[in-house]
Amino acid sequence: MSEVLRSYDLSNLSIATLASHSALQIFHGAKLEGFKTVAIVTKDRLWFYENFKHLIDHFIVLDGWGRLCSEEVVKKLQSLNAVLIPHGSYVEYVGLDCAEGIEVPILGLRKLFRVEADQWAKMGLLQRAGIPIPKLYRVNDLIDGLVIVKLPGAKGGRGYFIARSNEEVVEGLKKRLSEGLIKSFDEVMIQEYLIGVPAYFHYFYSPILNRVEVLGVDIRYESNVDGLKRLPYEVVSEFKLNPTFVVVGNIPLVLRESILTKVLEYGIKFVEVTKKELPPGVIGPFCLESVIDDSMEVKVFEFSGRIVAGTNLYINGSPYSYLYWDEPMSTGRRLARELKLAIKYGVVEKVLT
Ligand code: AMP
Repeated sequence: MSEVLRSYDLSNLSIATLASHSALQIFHGAKLEGFKTVAIVTKDRLWFYENFKHLIDHFIVLDGWGRLCSEEVVKKLQSLNAVLIPHGSYVEYVGLDCAEGIEVPILGLRKLFRVEADQWAKMGLLQRAGIPIPKLYRVNDLIDGLVIVKLPGAKGGRGYFIARSNEEVVEGLKKRLSEGLIKSFDEVMIQEYLIGVPAYFHYFYSPILNRVEVLGVDIRYESNVDGLKRLPYEVVSEFKLNPTFVVVGNIPLVLRESILTKVLEYGIKFVEVTKKELPPGVIGPFCLESVIDDSMEVKVFEFSGRIVAGTNLYINGSPYSYLYWDEPMSTGRRLARELKLAIKYGVVEKVLT
């Protein structure tokens, strides 16, 4: 990557991302910080992103996401001095090998993608960070309580289900196998179902300022687990309506300030473990997904090492980002700001991998 970077004109970098997920936020933030922007877009979505031409300087149009790593597209990105921002859909769309191997500088920690692709490796990292997590089970372990069965890949909770016993786990998995949602039982992770309220913390680690910022918090709005509470309990029970966890949007949240101390502590622990195990460690945005119970215990059931869609709530800044920046600072803009600072101090290699 350092070879590719050497050929770059650092005074003329552009910010590129796949046109999806949080791309509009990323382009908006990049523009505010004075960067050119590149939308990598599939043909069917081009019309939509053309509505935001004022945020996009170049379009690279693909027949399908699989074309991202083709020589032609990589050369084009390099000729635009492009720095790629990986968002929550990046690996899901282009596949792990392309995501990890692309010869374009990435604003973020490339090494983390492989860890993120493995649910067990992910939870192990959290555990070694000293962050509390739910109990974990494999398919044949003895299940003692309510559990959630999670299928691999970032498909927004599709196919997840809850179960009360090994029999229910196996029954649910057989169904998903026949629907083609999984290839084998080994792919799934089973977690203790945490009772409490969900809260998703958005962080930004700045290698330039050497600090962890809490940029926002959100709640995911999920169908139909969030819809079931609109029905009387007896109806849910009589019709055996089981919750599903398909994400349809995000809702803003501010936390009791006393919880915020723990949130920041977890963020710092996460940065430390990645520095130790995946040097140089996480760069830029990451998210810890938690459930907070009625004794204020915060357990983290999942993380994302990239910008999450919940940050789209705060394109004009969040109640937390104002505390650090005193100006509208989205996560997209914060990424561009970090790159700008790295260029200013002559240390781009600290933020690009
Ligand atoms: P995930 O794919 O890990 O982000 O999970 C999707 C959704 O499933 C979350 O947003 C939660 O609503 C729910 N969920 C996942 N893991 C747990 C857990 N251990 N306990 C309770 N709810 C969970």
